[in-house]
Amino acid sequence: MSELAILGGPSAVRRPIGAYRSIGDDERAAVDRVLRSGCLSGFYGSPGPEFFGGEEVQRLEREWERRYGIAHAVSVNSATSGLFAAMAAIGISPGDEVIVPPYTMSATVVAPLLYGGIPVFVDIEPRTFCIDPDLVEAAISPRTKAIVAVNLFGHPAELERLRNLADERGIFLIEDSAQAPLGAENGRPCGTVGHIGVFSLNYHKHIHSGEGGICVTSDAKLARRLQLVRNHGENVVAEENDDLSNMIGFNYRMSEIHAAISSVQLDNAERHVSLRERAAAILADGTRDLEGWTVPHVRPGCRHNYYMFTVRLDDEVLGVSRGTFSRALAAEGFPNEVGYVQPQYRLPMFRKRKAIGKDNWPFSLTDRKYDGVLCPVAERLHEREVLQFQVPSWDVSDDVAAELVAAVRKVHRKRGELKRLDNR
Ligand SMILES: *Cc1c(COP(=O)(O)O)cnc(C)c1O
Repeated sequence: MSELAILGGPSAVRRPIGAYRSIGDDERAAVDRVLRSGCLSGFYGSPGPEFFGGEEVQRLEREWERRYGIAHAVSVNSATSGLFAAMAAIGISPGDEVIVPPYTMSATVVAPLLYGGIPVFVDIEPRTFCIDPDLVEAAISPRTKAIVAVNLFGHPAELERLRNLADERGIFLIEDSAQAPLGAENGRPCGTVGHIGVFSLNYHKHIHSGEGGICVTSDAKLARRLQLVRNHGENVVAEENDDLSNMIGFNYRMSEIHAAISSVQLDNAERHVSLRERAAAILADGTRDLEGWTVPHVRPGCRHNYYMFTVRLDDEVLGVSRGTFSRALAAEGFPNEVGYVQPQYRLPMFRKRKAIGKDNWPFSLTDRKYDGVLCPVAERLHEREVLQFQVPSWDVSDDVAAELVAAVRKVHRKRGELKRLDNR
């Protein structure tokens, strides 16, 4: 009998890994405090102090500002709402081009469409999976209004370089930092280098309140526009002071309960993230030497929060397919997935150039097409190389991390036995 679990042997990870729970007594106490107050939301969609939300919402925002060292935090009910609000705030207008990476969650790339913006997909660089600044530079056209950089898997995009480029060209840099709380580049936190940064507090992220999001900016005008879009801005805009364009308001407001939970999560963020960093370090250090298995790259001066521990497999060097390698790892008790999400220009909305109304608006404003392989690096990584372990979901003590290392090394050592499972 083989030693490999997939071929009937004992698994390397002895007990199934438990789920990581970041929600505890402090969150319970915070919810209780709000319930006892009787006020579950302090927002009114009209001029006055209540336009800015209740006590918990404002406490969270001030604390977020303090910890991130940034002038303005505007809470919202999701990062998706935050991205939509950001597009409104920077004044995206019909026909404006917005440069986006293909390897990201769909909200990043559809946000411009709401305001008639045209997403222009620019490929990623293969080591960190973030948008490639050289290609961004080449893609800037006279119609370009903004660049959206995604700090993917918890590692910063080349933020300072992109910000300098944006400033030189007089365009905006928006950071989708949904996955990257506490990630940083040269000591500057992810989310704070662009004109607006957007964080997610949804259930799957490092720190969360179920659903929620935070926008940050150092620009008071942008902060005001974000607040207007968040909360029925049409009732609040001042004719003489505000630019009315894009200021139709939504209800993107965060409830007091979500804000109270988020405050506790923010207080504990360093602890939650560093625990997962520690697990990722054991995993990376224990497997770095294996051929055909490339552990996550961390650019010098950067902090990676390991929202995802993303490995690149080389099936030619391994002599076995990624799918079989992945299944063998799973059988050893190492939960993993192949690929991330498909390159987003493959979404039917782009392929068919149809988003709003029946007349293909806003695609009717551009000749850009979304057919074929727009971004070959993202395609190759997604289809052939990426294998992921979603770190925040799992309770990985040092012992468990050591078992995960053993699982990888075992499958790698005995991969010759997997060839017969390959029906490529
Ligand atoms: C999760 C995520 C979002 C959306 O966050 P929500 O809070 O669920 O709206 C956007 N972008 C990226 C990269 C994400 O991972």
